[in-house]
Amino acid sequence: MSEDKFDAIIAGGGLAGLSAAIVLARAGLEVLVVERGDYCGAKNMTGGRLYGHSLEKIIPNFADEAPIERKVTHEKVSLMTEDGSLDIGYGSKKLSSEPGNASYTVLRAKFDQWLAEKAEEAGAEIIPGILIDRLLVEDGRVVGIETDGEEMYSECVILADGVNSMLAQQIGMKKELEPNEVAVGAKETIRLGEDVINQRFGLKEGEGTAWLSAGDPTLGSFGGGFLYTNKDTVSIGIVATLCDIGHSDVSVPKMLDRFKAHPSIAPFLEGGEVIEYSGHLVPEDGIHMIPELVGDGVLVTGDAAGFCVNLGYTVRGMDFAIESGRLAAEAVIRAHELNDYSKAGLASYEESLKDSFIMKELDGYKGFPTILTRREIFENLPAMADDIAAKLFTVEGKAGNVIMDIINSLAEKTSARELVDLITTILEAF
Ligand SMILES: Cc1cc2nc3c(=O)[nH]c(=O)nc-3n(C[C@H](O)[C@H](O)[C@H](O)COP(=O)(O)OP(=O)(O)OC[C@H]3O[C@@H](n4cnc5c(N)ncnc54)[C@H](O)[C@@H]3O)c2cc1C
Repeated sequence: MSEDKFDAIIAGGGLAGLSAAIVLARAGLEVLVVERGDYCGAKNMTGGRLYGHSLEKIIPNFADEAPIERKVTHEKVSLMTEDGSLDIGYGSKKLSSEPGNASYTVLRAKFDQWLAEKAEEAGAEIIPGILIDRLLVEDGRVVGIETDGEEMYSECVILADGVNSMLAQQIGMKKELEPNEVAVGAKETIRLGEDVINQRFGLKEGEGTAWLSAGDPTLGSFGGGFLYTNKDTVSIGIVATLCDIGHSDVSVPKMLDRFKAHPSIAPFLEGGEVIEYSGHLVPEDGIHMIPELVGDGVLVTGDAAGFCVNLGYTVRGMDFAIESGRLAAEAVIRAHELNDYSKAGLASYEESLKDSFIMKELDGYKGFPTILTRREIFENLPAMADDIAAKLFTVEGKAGNVIMDIINSLAEKTSARELVDLITTILEAF
């Protein structure tokens, strides 16, 4: 570093920013992370499940030393109505059998602090408790940051400042978020005790459950409820799309209260103590909301770039954030070698994103945001599933063929036109 200039300044000490910092510092570059929270992780929130494959590339076998809560060994997906729940459970040795395919429940306050320590060990400097007010731009090129009147200079800035990246918006790389592009998440962490969790969820020591529910948790709107088991707490929450919230008179915190009280959820939480409450936005519009990713002296990563996929049975943003942080850092290392931090010099970031799972998956699921906004999925489907299950599993001693009754009632309720419409939308999604 010259007297007063870093090779890279990273805006935001979340997973994207810290991953970039580790890779850059290991390559010997002078890197500064500026985080507005009192410590890395202080302001960060997630539902709770980290797919480990992208962090494995930076820190192999990270789970041996990281403060993970549990390894996910049990999956559960539910279609819920007000008083019913059709559940699909899956448990297998195939789940989390290798570090590269394992997923873990995490609490960000602990996990991000650990990752920050790794970045510092690698040689990165981290300043927490400081909000970056704006980017410094000279002749159309980003040359540093301004915080509280103080200017700091760098060859480039990596924007890792989260879903509502004000910094990318200030320089025109990202437009303001639209209601259809984001969901609101509300989450509680509830302490139950390790033994109680093991007993209630049928888990052995270290094993964990990821449970996602659609239908009643968001009153039939796009989104759902989640519950992840941590060591001695559970993370429970709701994700509901902003544009749908306007159509309902139930607020997201109220949805969470309803979800906690649902007959198939409440027994798991009995006697628990709420120790944390948080709310956050989630990028939901996939490839349609990706901003400009590279400019002169600047790159955009993680949620700031809209890198997140919600498929209903799984929500993923953390592995995208880590991978994009790594790829951005590798592009900066190349630019450093060429001594060219212009848009062209940093362009390898976009190339490697295209070759990575990030763009391939965002492109592969490009129709999902549209299909998931259809009320058939979140309202009619859970109701239909509830109806079928109730008929199948209730024996009243009346003569008849229940299976034919179900088929006939389905044919009556669903018009051919509706079916064709739904199938067409599903096909268009791919
Ligand atoms: C309710 C909910 C459930 C989710 N569930 C899952 C899940 O189970 N699995 C999964 O993989 N993903 C999940 N996600 C998505 C995942 O949490 C995000 O994709 C991920 O946290 C993005 O990481 P990031 O580093 O890009 O951004 P963040 O973690 O948001 O980090 C951004 C950082 O930048 C800092 N910052 C912002 N502005 C400034 C500034 N001006 N100056 C300095 N610092 C700044 C912030 O304080 C923060 O530390 C969920 C999200 C929500 C909200």
